[in-house]
Amino acid sequence: MTGRFAPSPTGELHVGNLRTALAAWASCVARSEDFLVRMEDLDRVTSSPEWSSIQLQSLAAIGITWTGEPVVQSERFALYNDAIAQLHAQNLVYECFCTRREIAEAAAAPHGGPVLYPGICADLTDVERAAKRQERTGALRVRSGGGTETFIDRVHGEITAPVDDVVLRRNDGVPAYNVAVVVDDAVQGITEVVRGADLLQITASQMRLQKLLGLSAVQYAHVPLVVNTDGDRLAKRDQGITLPQLAAMGMSASEVRNVLWATLGQDGREVHEFSWDAVSREPWVSPWSNGKS
Ligand code: GLU
Repeated sequence: MTGRFAPSPTGELHVGNLRTALAAWASCVARSEDFLVRMEDLDRVTSSPEWSSIQLQSLAAIGITWTGEPVVQSERFALYNDAIAQLHAQNLVYECFCTRREIAEAAAAPHGGPVLYPGICADLTDVERAAKRQERTGALRVRSGGGTETFIDRVHGEITAPVDDVVLRRNDGVPAYNVAVVVDDAVQGITEVVRGADLLQITASQMRLQKLLGLSAVQYAHVPLVVNTDGDRLAKRDQGITLPQLAAMGMSASEVRNVLWATLGQDGREVHEFSWDAVSREPWVSPWSNGKS
């Protein structure tokens, strides 16, 4: 078994990210497994090698170690394009010309659930498709078959979520996150995926992609998000969300690490004693942030 932490190198890791990384790493240490880091830099506008090395420094500063050089997604487009071609060969890909706005207008999101693609472009005729191509370049979506997938999350227990026709390739030609993550986890031999709880619902769509591509299933653990004292997701205006900010407030990286460890329910445990059973499924209120400051 192998675990990983897969940040997007678009800025400093905040304490919520570091807490998730700490859990991902300790879970591997506890099972004497390899722990890998992968840089999810598909978005070339917001990602940079500089942020990547700053993020690795933050991980190292709180005592996290990893095996080998981090894999970098922007160097692996061929792998993702092969997977898209494999789906295409099974007639499981269609072009989608919708804008975000068109999707939002057409998609009813019942009870605040996730917005699913409402299938506008799923069954275009050749003539309709040719006409739309004149207007704009299409993205590619998977013909997922819809329905739901169910899995047992190590933190949240049994989860059933709807499957979406997620984008496989964006209309700028870049492979999309949902393909890259599924392909990389399989190619890297990942068996435990640990990440933020914001990705709990999309997991169902990723599981469907795994099945359609004939890839093995993995175990999931979605670590609850960090919120500020107002109960909101951390934003730039919150104080003390990154290691440099906490250092400026007089807090060393190892002190931060100890607080994060305790908030994962692991106080008094060594790293190799890490247990998912002790991790709360409630959002974590960061002691350092204050939404009003
Ligand atoms: N790169 C994603 C993020 O930073 C995480 C994806 C994953 O772990 O599957 O939110």
